[in-house]
Amino acid sequence: MRKNRLPSVKRGLIIVVSAPSGSGKTTLCKKLLETNHKLIYSISATTRAPRAGEFDGKDYFFTNVKIFKKMIKNNEFVEWAEVHGNYYGTPKKYLEKTLSRGYDVILDIDVQGGEAIKNTYPESVLIFIAPPSLDELKKRLVTRAQDNSKTIALRLKNAQKEMSYVKFYDYLVINDKLDTALDQLKSIIRAEHTKIKRHKKPNLYLN
Ligand code: 5GP
Repeated sequence: MRKNRLPSVKRGLIIVVSAPSGSGKTTLCKKLLETNHKLIYSISATTRAPRAGEFDGKDYFFTNVKIFKKMIKNNEFVEWAEVHGNYYGTPKKYLEKTLSRGYDVILDIDVQGGEAIKNTYPESVLIFIAPPSLDELKKRLVTRAQDNSKTIALRLKNAQKEMSYVKFYDYLVINDKLDTALDQLKSIIRAEHTKIKRHKKPNLYLN
């Protein structure tokens, strides 16, 4: 007798997007999420203070160092790192639950996090977004007027270090024109879904 089984759900993809700050990564992720309804944003926890227009539980789970360290101890993160003097971490439970429901999850995390995710989940897709040049990056950081000059200098210094991690990534997208970069991101996700190794039964039509 045939068992009454629920249709099996194909596990979603982990898509890591990393970039030096000011590369347009957040805008690209938002645009991608608007057009791809099978894609869910992984909300990180952070000890950084909220910026104007950011909301707890939407952009980040804003917390303090004491609670963050307790979460590390309780093994609540798949990865965590100190970035620009603050702690950031990816909550494990939500990631696992969302993937097992068949949704892709996008992780907007730094290069240390990217490396850690690749070690834990070798099947994850790592995309590095780079600005067209360091001069252009500086211009963007100054124009967006989000950080003071000391922070901008620190972010620029870190950018060069971050770019040296590109070799650990699967894809490089240069964000010169937003629409072109967005198209490239969409193509990467589409192509990843059609990879033979992601299909449960690649030996089509054979018994
Ligand atoms: P921001 O403070 O500008 O929102 O983020 C600073 C950096 O921290 C960005 O590169 C961002 O991608 C990274 N980040 C955000 N959440 C996480 C996380 O959960 N883990 C890691 N490793 N980095 C994160």
